[in-house]
Amino acid sequence: MYDHRKLGRELELFDTDPLIGAGLPYWRPAGAEIRHALEEYIREVERRAGYQHVCSPVLGKRELYEISGHWSHYRDGMYPPMDVGGEQVVLRPSLCPHHALIYRSRAHSYRDLPLRMAELGGMYRSELSGVLGGLTRVRAIQLNDAHIFCTPDQAADEAAGALGLIGQAYQALGIEPARYRLSLPGRDAKYVGGREMWERAAGLLEQVLVRAGVPYRAEEGEAAFYGPKIDVQIADSAEREASLSTVQVDFYLPERFGLEYAGAGRARHRPVMVHRSIIGSAERAVAHLIDVHGGAFPAWLAPVQLVVLPVGDGQVPQAGALAGQAVSAGLRAVVARPECGSLGARIHASRLVPYQAVIGAREAAAGQAALRLRDGRQVPALPVDELLSRIGAQVAAHGGELWQERE
Ligand SMILES: [Zn+2]
Repeated sequence: MYDHRKLGRELELFDTDPLIGAGLPYWRPAGAEIRHALEEYIREVERRAGYQHVCSPVLGKRELYEISGHWSHYRDGMYPPMDVGGEQVVLRPSLCPHHALIYRSRAHSYRDLPLRMAELGGMYRSELSGVLGGLTRVRAIQLNDAHIFCTPDQAADEAAGALGLIGQAYQALGIEPARYRLSLPGRDAKYVGGREMWERAAGLLEQVLVRAGVPYRAEEGEAAFYGPKIDVQIADSAEREASLSTVQVDFYLPERFGLEYAGAGRARHRPVMVHRSIIGSAERAVAHLIDVHGGAFPAWLAPVQLVVLPVGDGQVPQAGALAGQAVSAGLRAVVARPECGSLGARIHASRLVPYQAVIGAREAAAGQAALRLRDGRQVPALPVDELLSRIGAQVAAHGGELWQERE
């Protein structure tokens, strides 16, 4: 494992500036490429799983968080309100209240449910500066969030489906959970909404974990203020544990916001909210990916996927054409020109790039390129069209494999 704070700066993925402030890293172009690839992947996974995406503002009136309960249970983690035109506005500490209001803005029938609402949105946490470092403890967070509004009977299946998406994403990302945690209230917990509600939610989540066949440990004192949750824990290079992904069954916020749906007999019913995050925040996910992969990211995530290496100055035009064709095909490609050093030195400098295409005089004349893979394998020269389509297929598969040999 690597230390993402050191390596992230060396790889020029992110940085900080004292004038922006502690806990407020910015993403350099290479880091932004990874983050965008991650966000596009998640949006596509969610779209295929029947989620609808929304966009909501990062601010809300203080009153909104008084209703949700954040104001009384979570104020220490929130920024102080801003006075704007006689109203108090706060930076949001979570996306749930906005999504509850979006649900409430329309009438719903049981036929609309489950309604899966997703957003990659900003939220803010007033962390003390002493605990900030790199991308893991930040004050501005881009969260992969979703809320599934469903009937009580659908909640277990929806939570199980979310757990399935987490497993699928971890495979694509090449990461593994350290463990699954069933996060329960502490002994002196307040049980907002009543103890019976909590026990019902915890029972549902336990059933989901058992059904998924994953080993888990129940732990007291780790629940959210509005209910118990499943946390998927990851560990960093120093064996420090953190929650990356989460699935929660919540009977409380639907009550607070008076959410309803019409049943078959036109009677009004209360939906359940399943809160879930597949990869947690973009910040923590990328920090963990750096820790685990040391910069050798899965091909679909790599900031540069293909580097084109002309052997001499004579092949620079063909190298530029290949890189241009790769970019048009949706790949992230660059040329490492001869003035950057010997071929060996350029290959060494590109060692984290999954695909390295070498063009010598022979390849240039034949419209071909020889391929070196990051793992040291060499692929004999191929026509450039075939080379690009095979790399493209490999990247689109979101797998861990760099290359598929053909018979
Ligand atoms: Zn939520």
